Amino acid sequence: MDNTAISRAKRQTRVMGKSCGIMGDGSKAVKIHHLVKAPENTPESISFRESWDASRPVTVYKTPENLPDGTPCTAATVILRSKGCAWWWKSGCTFCGYFNDVRDDVSAEDMFSQWEYAKKSTNQFEGCQMIKVYTSGTFFEDRENPPEWQEAVLKETADMGLHLVVEAQAQMCTPEKIEWVAARHPGCTVAIGLEAYDDSVLRFHVNKGFTTKQWHRAVEMLRENDLRVKTYLLFKPPFMSEGDALNHTTSWLIDVAPFSDEVSVNPMNIQKNTIVDRLFRNKEYRTPWLWSLVEMIKRAHEHLNDSSCRIIVHPTAGGKIRGAHNCGKCDSDVVAAIERYSVSGETQEFKHLECSCESHWRAELENDLSLPITLGYGTFRRGNPTDLVRAP
Ligand code: SF4
Ligand SMILES: [Zn+2]
Repeated sequence: MDNTAISRAKRQTRVMGKSCGIMGDGSKAVKIHHLVKAPENTPESISFRESWDASRPVTVYKTPENLPDGTPCTAATVILRSKGCAWWWKSGCTFCGYFNDVRDDVSAEDMFSQWEYAKKSTNQFEGCQMIKVYTSGTFFEDRENPPEWQEAVLKETADMGLHLVVEAQAQMCTPEKIEWVAARHPGCTVAIGLEAYDDSVLRFHVNKGFTTKQWHRAVEMLRENDLRVKTYLLFKPPFMSEGDALNHTTSWLIDVAPFSDEVSVNPMNIQKNTIVDRLFRNKEYRTPWLWSLVEMIKRAHEHLNDSSCRIIVHPTAGGKIRGAHNCGKCDSDVVAAIERYSVSGETQEFKHLECSCESHWRAELENDLSLPITLGYGTFRRGNPTDLVRAP
C-alpha cells in the first residue's frame, strides 16, 4: 500500500471512530483490505521482509510421509522465498501470513540459486522418495514464479524419481497449464487450499478469491491429466463458533473426500499480522480445541470408512496458545494421537485419551449450538478464570 492509501485508511479509521456510522462522511469508500492490510505494508514491515537473503530458501527439511500407494517414505520439504501469492497482492486470505516470508524483488536467478541450495544441502535429496516444493502461492503461476524455473523443478524431480507435491489456487488451474505440468512431471500431486466447501464461508470468512465451482473445475482438470488431488480444509475460520466449526468442517470433509486423493485439515494457527491475528489480539477469536479435531476425525472416519481418501491433520503450533489447544495438561498427548492418526488412519489412537477439560469443551459446544452468539461462547482456556474475567 502506498502512502496515500495509508493516509486514506487512517482518515477513514478516524472518521469511523468519530461519528460517521453507517452513512459515512461522503468521502470515497475505502475497501476493507486497505484498512486491514495497512500494518503489513508499513516501511518497517517491508524493510523487514527485504532483509531476507533472496538467494536462500526459507527452509529445507525432511519428514516421514506416505507415498501415494501408502508406503512409508521420507519427504523433503523446500519452502522458497518467492514473490508470493498473486491473490495476496490484490487482497489475500484472512488467515494467511505467508507474505511474511516473501520478497517483491526475487529474480529468476534467485529462484535457481535457492533451488541449487536445497539440492546441495540435502545431497540431492538423498534418502527421499517424495518432495514438496512450496512457494507461498501457486507453483505454476507465471507472474509469481519464472516458467523456466518451474520447468526445471518439474523435470529434475521427475528425473530423480521423486513424487512431487506443489500448491495452487483453484482459479490458476487452466487446461493449458495443467497439461503443461503433467507433461513435465506425470502423476504429481497438486494441493489446493479450498479451506471450506461453502461459498458463503469462502467469501465472508476466508476471502479465498475462488468459489467451490472453480475448485470442482480445477479438480476435473487435474483428474483428466492423471494428476493427484490434495485438498486443504481450514478448521475454524474467523467469525465462526467452535460448535459450528466442528459441524461444518466435518460435513465439508465428508463432501470433498470423494473428489480428493488426500484431505489435509489444518486447524487454525494465528500467523502474525493477519486479520485473524487482529481478532485474536482483540479477544474476538480463539483457536480450536484439540478435542474438536478428535471429534471431527471420529465422525468423518465413520462415514469415510471404505473411502480410499487419506485424512491428514497436523495441528501446527498444537498445544500452544496460537495453535489448536486444550487445557495445557493434556495437549501433548492429544496432539501426538492426532499425528499418529494421520499416519495410521486408525481411530484406536484416541482410545485412552482423557482429561477433565473435555467436559468444558462439551459445555462450550452445547452453548455454541444453542445460544445465539455468532462468535461463540468459549473463553480463553489457559490461566486463572477469575483473572481472565477481570482482564480488560
Ligand atoms: S491463496 Fe494461499 S498463499 Fe494466497 S493468500 Fe490465500 S492462503 Fe495465502
Ligand atoms: Zn485437558
